Amino acid sequence: MHRTHTCGELRTNHIGTQVTLSGWVQRRTDFGALTFIDLRDRYGITQLSFNEEYNKELNEKARSLGREFVIKVHGEVIERSSKNDKIPTGHIEIKVTDFEILNASLTPPFTIEDDTDGGEEIRLKYRYLDLRRNAIQDKLILRSKLNKAVRDYLNNAGFIDVETPVLIKSTPEGARDFVVPSRMNEGQYYALPQSPQTFKQLLMVSGLDKYYQIVKCFRDEDFRADRQPEFTQIDCEMSFVEREDILSTFEGMIRDVFQSVKEIDLGQIPILTYDDAMKRFGSDKPDMRFGMELVDLDDVAKGNGFSVFDNAESIVAINVKGGNTYTRKELDAFTDWVKRPQIGALGLIYCRVNEDGSLKSSVDKFFDETKLKLWADQCTSEAGDLILVLSGKTDKVRKQMNELRLHVGELQGLRPKNKFAACWVVDFPLVEYDEESGKWHAMHHPFTSPIPADRDKMQTDPGAVKANAYDMAINGMEVGGGSIRIHDKQLQKRMFDLLGFTEEEAQEQFGFLMNAFEYGAPPHGGIAFGLDRLTAILAGTDSIRDVIAFPKNNMGRDIMIDAPAPLNADQKKELGM
Ligand code: ASP
Repeated sequence: MHRTHTCGELRTNHIGTQVTLSGWVQRRTDFGALTFIDLRDRYGITQLSFNEEYNKELNEKARSLGREFVIKVHGEVIERSSKNDKIPTGHIEIKVTDFEILNASLTPPFTIEDDTDGGEEIRLKYRYLDLRRNAIQDKLILRSKLNKAVRDYLNNAGFIDVETPVLIKSTPEGARDFVVPSRMNEGQYYALPQSPQTFKQLLMVSGLDKYYQIVKCFRDEDFRADRQPEFTQIDCEMSFVEREDILSTFEGMIRDVFQSVKEIDLGQIPILTYDDAMKRFGSDKPDMRFGMELVDLDDVAKGNGFSVFDNAESIVAINVKGGNTYTRKELDAFTDWVKRPQIGALGLIYCRVNEDGSLKSSVDKFFDETKLKLWADQCTSEAGDLILVLSGKTDKVRKQMNELRLHVGELQGLRPKNKFAACWVVDFPLVEYDEESGKWHAMHHPFTSPIPADRDKMQTDPGAVKANAYDMAINGMEVGGGSIRIHDKQLQKRMFDLLGFTEEEAQEQFGFLMNAFEYGAPPHGGIAFGLDRLTAILAGTDSIRDVIAFPKNNMGRDIMIDAPAPLNADQKKELGM
């Protein structure tokens, strides 16, 4: 028998019991006649003690154990003389009477402890060792729980788990495809799915009614901080539904997940329109953990001879509660922060609301107290607050203010990792105009339907058409999105026309779907959630890499298995490359 208990299991009520434990040597401490070893497995750490007085030979042998040796020990559970309240097994230790080395280990390239000394690259190269650390294992355990909660919820709600193929043809999510050469069809390539979008819609035509799949998707995008070339989606589709049905079903799922994984009641999830979200937060994925909403200062700040404001399309402010404590130096740092190329503002105007209610701005020359009072009223500022103002083109200035709001929110401690706030954003524009190509692009994908009231505007004013689409954001990050689909052939044709697809192009790319729609496609809609992102948020980490067992690095490389790698000449020949 390798073990009677795990390394996380023994407590004071086991004192006096004979036990066998197996695990890894995390740490050895030698004190002359005494030797202590921390034995680790997935469940925890148990201290082993060896004493020269009662077994000299065994104590000597214990001193030969290196880090990460795999051992099996036998002994008695005894009370620890110096207790450790930081770990659940900290009140006991094992007085070892016998042990066996099950496997030796090379010295690991970094310490396998919660606070490791290893840098990211080396930990990715030895990911199997990094995964021995509880900090990382806990995240995979959380991911597994989340997975189960999702499956439980969807299975209970009557969804059917269907697998869709991985070797397919280009899908319509708008990223670059990963391709796989076909040996049997020389010169031809499969594409890996960017999502199972077309298949899940076909399953609705088939009458499956409610589909889900926890599925790998692949997008060949350039490096962006929180992206992986392969990632996992919770992909869902439903028939005979309207937007409200989808929102309530998946609000239920997310609330259930938070409840079962974290015992957190997310509460009812507010619904914002895209226009509202942009106006109030400058973002289509607002962080709703805190207020500090954008305030429009156009009426009260224009026309005072300050050309920066007078020439601006929009003047937008935020009110920082208690922000008057920021020093001049800190305010200058804010200015530098918004002027960085990533944000791109030309400058930042501020107005202090002093404790005595007096107002002092960085543009006193143009705005006296009476005028500043109008700003303060508009921002509902109180004594001790600080007003920060940006101006410029509306879209740009809102986005900049969103960044500043998040930055100041972070500094003010308003975005704690253990607080969660979700929202739905609906009524996105259906299409956006791309100046470069002179074409309209689908904001979501070409199967997303316009909201019924806007259909007639598709030809006359495409930019004003709202999509019957929705996103969910949690803590300022997009975690899911989807839409009610077009199931009507005429409407689909109008959409392809708008996007500049010729009949032939549409037929070639999506003919199979359009043909299927000739055979009685039901009204349907769906959504997909990013499982990695969702897990990262629940785990309180900024990087989705932390919640993926074997992630790729910034360059899309798996440095552990060293992929991608060149093909050898024979393989190339076989593939006709
Ligand atoms: N296929 C979409 C995506 O991956 C989600 C959906 O529309 O259901 O973003």
